[in-house]
Amino acid sequence: MNSPKSSVLLAQLEALYQQVDAALQGWTCQASTLCCRFGITGREPYVTSIELALIERQLASRGGGLPTRRRALPLARDTVEQFGQRWRKEERTCPLLDSSGRCFVYACRPFGCRTFFCDNSLKSKHISRERIRQWVAEIERLAHHYCPDGDKGRPLTRALRVG
Ligand code: SF4
Repeated sequence: MNSPKSSVLLAQLEALYQQVDAALQGWTCQASTLCCRFGITGREPYVTSIELALIERQLASRGGGLPTRRRALPLARDTVEQFGQRWRKEERTCPLLDSSGRCFVYACRPFGCRTFFCDNSLKSKHISRERIRQWVAEIERLAHHYCPDGDKGRPLTRALRVG
């Protein structure tokens, strides 16, 4: 979808992401990319149609397609201690990790990658579950306007058709 209306909705989503980032300002990720290692955590972010559209727009602006190589950065020591050798056996990572092991669409990464998907970020900033629910509701509202038959969110790999 590429209409003036969709551009406005995508801009509104970007503005919401800015709000989220502002709320998390000051929190620094240990860059373990743990949240991008779905095989280890056993979970992955869900994306709505409009979040996926923003990612696809970013991919298109970079030549289209997913990064060809998927490699994650080394895990932080405490993560290795937490998960033991499990990470060695299961390295199913996000298809949006680039060749350097970083998020290929970082500026446009889904809401789940910014907030509730990372427990550490929420604990350190004391963001309430109610606030999270409000953000999610707003994204679902935008997604519905973007694509009336749209979903309430699918696993990222399924949405990207690689899962
Ligand atoms: S979209 Fe980016 S931040 Fe989110 S799981 Fe994938 S690589 Fe990690």
